Amino acid sequence: MKVRAAAKLNLMLDMLKKLDNGYHSLFMVMQSVDLYDTVDVQRNGLGRILIESDSAKMPKDSSNIAYKCAEKFFEDMEISQCGITIRIGKNIPMASGMAGGSADGAAVLYCLNKIYGTGLSHAQLCEIGGKVGADIPFSLTGGTAVVLNTGDIIAPVNPLPDCEIVIVKPNQDVSTKEAYSMLDSLQRLRHLDRVGMLEALSKNDFNAICSKCGNVFEQAVEVSERPYIKSIMRKCGADACLMSGSGPTVFGLFSDKENADRCFNELNKYYENVFKCSAVSKGITEF
Ligand code: ATP
Repeated sequence: MKVRAAAKLNLMLDMLKKLDNGYHSLFMVMQSVDLYDTVDVQRNGLGRILIESDSAKMPKDSSNIAYKCAEKFFEDMEISQCGITIRIGKNIPMASGMAGGSADGAAVLYCLNKIYGTGLSHAQLCEIGGKVGADIPFSLTGGTAVVLNTGDIIAPVNPLPDCEIVIVKPNQDVSTKEAYSMLDSLQRLRHLDRVGMLEALSKNDFNAICSKCGNVFEQAVEVSERPYIKSIMRKCGADACLMSGSGPTVFGLFSDKENADRCFNELNKYYENVFKCSAVSKGITEF
């Protein structure tokens, strides 16, 4: 069975508090975009989980998030016939803040539920996924949603008003773990206008949404190319531009398609990984 797994962007990412268990309680507005990994899951009769991919960089062993999701699924379902091959066509840049690994993991859970006829509900799949990674429940859900706490509370909201999204993944790797420790070491965190964002979303007001977009990781994680990328986006008429997740990806929202095209062409001269995307309403789609 073959599916597409969508990348996500954070329209808002604020930190509410650090929890006693070391995790962070977050307030996020997440958006799926039409930048997809392809995930093909087939039974193999070998009695073990195999990962294959066109990406040389992605781990193919038990550290792969797709592998971990399959393992957790078999364990929770008490299935011993766990011979499957997972083929991942990697298009979502890795360690970028776009949750590519979580998307792959979500896709595997979605496929295994169908292949093994386990009939798990969406909420049950999210519960298994949440044990592997915080972004997996949203990757299973997709669309536009307010995501709270450690990713376990997901409230779908109105779809993002029609716009174009230009995304740049600068050539810098950001470790999510290090990004959180940099956030923790900040003397003072400037919080975002979360209520204002909720009001803007409920009114479908694109300009207001853009004015409320923000990511507290920008206060902690230095991405050397970020100011330059943002300056080009603004010059090209972006209505908002910000970093996604713990970075380094930077994206711009454009109400005007020609401005987005201009921005894409300009950034494409300087960066290897530039994408022009649209918001989509699903995390996982079947072929
Ligand atoms: P998030 O936005 O959820 O923090 P991310 O986009 O920053 O995620 P990923 O691309 O999901 O990061 O990958 C983070 C790390 O996880 C990679 O550096 C890689 O070594 C490892 N990894 C494990 N499985 C996968 C996978 N299926 N795809 C990509 N990376 C994976």
